[in-house]
Amino acid sequence: MLDISKIREQFPILKRTVADGRPLVYLDNTATSQTPHSVVEAIVDGYEHTKANVHRGVHTLSQEATDKVEHTRRRVAAYINAASHEEIIFTRGTTEAINLVAASFGSRFLRGGEIILTVMEHHANIVPWQLLAERNGLVIKVVNISDAGALDMEMYRDLFSDRTVTAAFCHVSNVLGTVNPVKEMVAIAHSHGVPALVDGAQASPHMRIDVQEIGCDFYAFSSHKMYGPTGVGVLYGRRELLEEMPPYQGGGEMIGHVRLPEGTTFAALPFKFEAGTPDYVGIAAFAAALDFMEQTGIEAIAAHEHELLEYATARLMEIKGMRIFGTTEGKEPVISFLVRDIHPYDMGMLLDRLGIAVRTGHHCAQPLMERLGIPGTVRASFAVYNTREEVDEFIKAVTRVSNMF
Ligand SMILES: *Cc1c(COP(=O)(O)O)cnc(C)c1O
Repeated sequence: MLDISKIREQFPILKRTVADGRPLVYLDNTATSQTPHSVVEAIVDGYEHTKANVHRGVHTLSQEATDKVEHTRRRVAAYINAASHEEIIFTRGTTEAINLVAASFGSRFLRGGEIILTVMEHHANIVPWQLLAERNGLVIKVVNISDAGALDMEMYRDLFSDRTVTAAFCHVSNVLGTVNPVKEMVAIAHSHGVPALVDGAQASPHMRIDVQEIGCDFYAFSSHKMYGPTGVGVLYGRRELLEEMPPYQGGGEMIGHVRLPEGTTFAALPFKFEAGTPDYVGIAAFAAALDFMEQTGIEAIAAHEHELLEYATARLMEIKGMRIFGTTEGKEPVISFLVRDIHPYDMGMLLDRLGIAVRTGHHCAQPLMERLGIPGTVRASFAVYNTREEVDEFIKAVTRVSNMF
């Protein structure tokens, strides 16, 4: 069992108050998680002791900064069981990682090609494909969900045709908490000779990721949702594909040799996809976040979060007029809900006055809201530092707000 009070001590922000002195109850972890002191310390250490541009200098600081980035690359590769650290590309986040794949890998897709997405995708896994579809004359096909929030796997299977060029889907829904059968989905795509991208932004904070076991061609996630710094993301890509793909952005760091007026060659993996100066301090500090997750224990984190999820779900259901969106078996610790016809924005604002931080709105998933026939939801989501007492405060607050209407 985890000692949650000890874990909380590592997150100074959890001691602060909001709304005239109320203790903060932070339940917006799906949007971003808080950062333990060890990660902040790693950032400060980077700025105070090893700030120098990476891969460029022979001087001591530059080498130390480079070593730190490359250390994180190896940590990430091990964390998701990539075959090689050269398959790990640092980006600004999941969004940039998916844009990279859509722009670079997608450039080969010819007019009339079909891209399979799902209706539960985050805008980050929709809009880059739409931009590509617009450019290349492609068609987007959308997998529907059941009312409980499970993907319609029969429809997914049926959408493949000899025109399908790629499939892209989330591992875990940021609204419904649904865990998609990604291994099976990748296998179906591959049986049609179609590569698959998995948006892992909501899976990576809660479960052990094994990209080789999943078998996916691309996997994207963000540091800031995994107790890490902002501005750092990861694209995992299978080496064969990454090697064939053209660069995404051009600039320093990503070149072999630059010639004018033409004839520039590009660096080897992974640097071919890392143009310009990365957030090397943030990348270095991301390793400390992975340390935090592994030292705490990913399984222990998940067990604690699921206990909170079950408890909170049961207590919420006691509230009259409560509707929870996303009720699939084994879902991740995200609860999207509405009470009667109380607008999610009103609920969120009043909860904030009681010290409860939740997300309200469409959660960057407008097509999903349309599918559910609602304008938005209130969303509470849990991380390892949340407690049962916080859930009690949350329930009390939701009950109080519900009674106000
Ligand atoms: C948060 C999120 C993203 C986007 O991540 P960024 O860090 O904002 O780039 C993409 N997909 C899902 C499922 C998410 O939850």
